[in-house]
Amino acid sequence: MREKEAKTVLTPQNGMNIYRGCTVGCICCDPRSKCYRFAGDFEDVEVKINGPALLEKSLNSKRRRCMIGVGSMSDPYQPVEKELQLMRKCLHHIHYYGFGLAVETRSDLILRDLDYLKNISEKAKCVCIMPLNTAEEALSAILEPSAASVRSRVETLKTLKAAGVTTIVSMGPFLPFINDSKETIQEVLKLVEEIMPFGVLCKFIGCKLRDGSREYFYEMLDKHFPGMSKRYDEAFGKEFDCISENNQELMPMIRSFLTERGIQFDQERLRTFMKGFEDKLTGEQLSLEEIIA
Ligand code: SF4
Repeated sequence: MREKEAKTVLTPQNGMNIYRGCTVGCICCDPRSKCYRFAGDFEDVEVKINGPALLEKSLNSKRRRCMIGVGSMSDPYQPVEKELQLMRKCLHHIHYYGFGLAVETRSDLILRDLDYLKNISEKAKCVCIMPLNTAEEALSAILEPSAASVRSRVETLKTLKAAGVTTIVSMGPFLPFINDSKETIQEVLKLVEEIMPFGVLCKFIGCKLRDGSREYFYEMLDKHFPGMSKRYDEAFGKEFDCISENNQELMPMIRSFLTERGIQFDQERLRTFMKGFEDKLTGEQLSLEEIIA
């Protein structure tokens, strides 16, 4: 872990990453890609120690409130968060200034902050996105070694939902030849049915690989599934989107399963929903266009 006095904490799109680098260890991890220019060992997490103070300054000076997006480049609930509580301090500011929140995590540590999440969702929109890509605990421990167990993620989402937080399951990544079978997807859908989230994110059955993330992925594949990297190389070469041969059959199955149960699956609508600010106390809603303007 390296502490850093950062200059900014919010991106122009209102994304926030208090931590850079990540210790969850997902074998398929886009933030490892070279294009993001992370210098050094990805597991050696850089901590923006002045992040909460910077966030408060930014929120205080904003002309309009909006959604703050957290967790796109690193899980915000790193183990070190237990002690540092930087995310918790940020949630305090988000709540105090009446902003909305969309947070993605694979950690059940998020439940420590249930009080703030509940308070944020009473004033504005509070969304928690949690990935699920298998129902098998043993496989999950290989694919996402330091993430919360599958059962714990399901229970965490159920608890968040009961507290009034909007829950979204991000289904994937589904790695071709590994967890892209019909049976695997059906098992994940059963978990989704148990949670009954607001929506499910899933663009396709497959995964994304590019320079930097591909090398790490291949190394991990060969460790856990000997010979698999060669199979990937032959099937996908340097393609960014590695789409499963089951994609065409399984996507309609997912769509009809979710639609029948009233779970939002329109990917465009979900993305717009996560970015659209809503003031629940005044009923004010800002569209994406208004936020960007
Ligand atoms: S939680 Fe995200 S950033 Fe961390 S290892 Fe997994 S995919 Fe990468």
